[in-house]
Amino acid sequence: MGKSQQKWQLKLMQFMRGRYGRFDILSKHLLYAAFALIIVNLFVRSSIISTVVLIGMVIAYYRLLSKKIYVRSNENQKYLAWWTRVKKPFVLRFNQFKYRKDYRYFSCSNCKQHIRVPRNRGKIMITCPSCHSKFEKKT
Ligand SMILES: [Zn+2]
Repeated sequence: MGKSQQKWQLKLMQFMRGRYGRFDILSKHLLYAAFALIIVNLFVRSSIISTVVLIGMVIAYYRLLSKKIYVRSNENQKYLAWWTRVKKPFVLRFNQFKYRKDYRYFSCSNCKQHIRVPRNRGKIMITCPSCHSKFEKKT
């Protein structure tokens, strides 16, 4: 490593001290979305999309360099909670498909809770884990 490179690294470290300094999930998703939009824009060539891409990237880098670490971390937590809620039905569908040979999926007729039971057990009595109502299903 050359001396000037060390000097630059030191300068960068000093500059980043006390800053958020990372691409968290929120920033990563912004950058992924921006990247996806850049690909889309190769075909669409819309100035609106270019603007959205730019805004997304600016926000991601602004958050990287922000000194309000606590605020940025809070934003990320809120985003994570929202994202978990949004992706839940998709994750559920995906798992239903992935494990379709081993499990059957029912939703509770009383509270709509999703229930997974092993296949090929004949007719069984299922007790809902959240509301404890019982119903009989063929597996
Ligand atoms: Zn239930």
